[in-house]
Amino acid sequence: MSDTETVPSFAEMPLAPAVIKAVQDVGYETPSPIQAQSIPHLLEGRDLLGLAQTGTGKTAAFALPLLSRVDVKKRHPQILVLAPTRELAIQVAEAFQRYARHMPGFHVLPVYGGQDMRGQLRGLQRGAQVIVGTPGRVMDHLRRGSMKLDDLKAVVLDEADEMLRMGFVDDIEWIMEQTPSERQVALFSATMPRQIRKIADTHLTDPVTVEIKSKTATVDTITQKVCMVSGYHKLDALTRILEVEPFDAMIIFVRTKTATVELAEKLEARGFSAAALNGDMSQALREKVIDRLKKSSLDILIATDVAARGLDVERMSHVVNYDIPYDTEAYVHRIGRTGRAGRQGTAILFATHRERRMLRAIENATRQRIDDMRLPSMRDVRDMRIRQFKEDVTKSLELGDEKLADFRNIVNELMTEGDMSPEDLAAALCFMAQKERPFPDGKEPERQQRQRRERDDRRGDRGERGDRGDRPRRDRREDNEGMVRYRVEVGREQGINPGDLVGAIANESKIPGKNIGHIRLFERCSSIYLPEGMDDSTLSSLKQVKVRNKPLEMSVWVDDGTLREERPRRRRRDGEFRRDRDRRSNSSKSNASRRPRHREEHS
Ligand code: AMP
Repeated sequence: MSDTETVPSFAEMPLAPAVIKAVQDVGYETPSPIQAQSIPHLLEGRDLLGLAQTGTGKTAAFALPLLSRVDVKKRHPQILVLAPTRELAIQVAEAFQRYARHMPGFHVLPVYGGQDMRGQLRGLQRGAQVIVGTPGRVMDHLRRGSMKLDDLKAVVLDEADEMLRMGFVDDIEWIMEQTPSERQVALFSATMPRQIRKIADTHLTDPVTVEIKSKTATVDTITQKVCMVSGYHKLDALTRILEVEPFDAMIIFVRTKTATVELAEKLEARGFSAAALNGDMSQALREKVIDRLKKSSLDILIATDVAARGLDVERMSHVVNYDIPYDTEAYVHRIGRTGRAGRQGTAILFATHRERRMLRAIENATRQRIDDMRLPSMRDVRDMRIRQFKEDVTKSLELGDEKLADFRNIVNELMTEGDMSPEDLAAALCFMAQKERPFPDGKEPERQQRQRRERDDRRGDRGERGDRGDRPRRDRREDNEGMVRYRVEVGREQGINPGDLVGAIANESKIPGKNIGHIRLFERCSSIYLPEGMDDSTLSSLKQVKVRNKPLEMSVWVDDGTLREERPRRRRRDGEFRRDRDRRSNSSKSNASRRPRHREEHS
């Protein structure tokens, strides 16, 4: 969506108030282009053909309007979503759950192959207004009579081209024939092969077609780079870039208002001068923040697309797309915040393996290949910190005798009284000066070392971007590909740490510790990613396993959006502000000698 077009807000759309409230809770600021174009038609009950890929916000594009028409007083299936894989089915079910959090009595049931049939049957008996399933398993239930679609209001075919690729076309045809003729149909697909077109022609009535067109744009003054990172390492990657990459001012784009605040807080806690810019802030406050950026009392803005519209700050040397944009137009608009007034700019895009399609679309739209960026190593971070430290020392010497005379006397006294060599004394002072910002030893954490080696191997083998091709299975743990998220009923309240869960699960199942994925601890429960395809007996034995004397009661994760991870603790102490401010006032800033700077205490 172009930044000049005015998009109606979620609140202005005739969505159910409970749905609008949930959208506000999750922090979506404005509808994405596919949402803006699809929601009004779906609310009117029209059939829809959406050409959109993952990452465009298509799930909310159908979930929000369809949920608005769900009657929670009735328990029978009203919406059926067909998805190609169990992961997508779970993801879509989680999204429905999140958007329906203010709809008491609402139930969504994911059904997919490989999952315990008894659980699904119980779920169906209990009743669910929304079923999200893979075609094979939905067919099973329809044949058994355990799922009835007589009163279905809508069917969604999600990622239809993927379902075609996986050989589900006949199943889809059969399922569609079991649905009432009056139901609404929405079909989403990234591409439109002939067979999908045929399904659309047969089963959709007078559909509206929604396509996210990508305009071509050239951006000569901007160097574009891409950093392939998995979600969990983004903050680490960003911090390294901030430490090593010389920049003047930077804007970091994220998707939600909540994320602007969270990321600004995290960067501040790591000593960077960062502030959020989002649509929740008053105009006056936004102007104040932008003014601070222009006047160099602030270097980093964390913004949403809406908040950054029209932002024109000459010193903006870098744009970081922390979250990939929904479409190529948004990308072009975002990176246009740099390279202004004839200056050169740099745009860095963070992308995950799953977002490769969008990456290619962006390359096509900007008619530029986006080169891989080598993530700064811990060695680079160390070298940069030492270089900056040396620069600071040299600059202090340039201050001249008048400022240093008193210190010279103290140094002489120290050497005589304490019988110290000049080297020892200087080393002790250096240590004191750099205590809060030590020089890392330059070694990579084990995980990063492995990934770097693999990446280099792949680059060497193929002479091309390492991270874009097939990823070896070993990497999968990092981004949870090929894994299912489970919930266990123990959390921080029991005083556990992730190691306790890994130990218990690895001991009690045949799953080796290295195949256990990301773990998040909440107050009363935790989530854990485990390889897909777990058999029923393993799951039921894991339900019984006890940690701190409490059974895990493991179940497939359904996110109702109410759980929050603990905030990282701030590591700063009061003195740090002062030290840093003093140091800053003593040294003029140059592009080549940046360092994290703390927010000014009294600004
Ligand atoms: P999808 O294309 O449905 O897989 O969505 C991609 C991601 O965008 C998901 O993480 C959503 O939570 C997020 N998202 C969807 N709609 C919006 C919105 N209007 N504002 C911000 N984030 C959104």
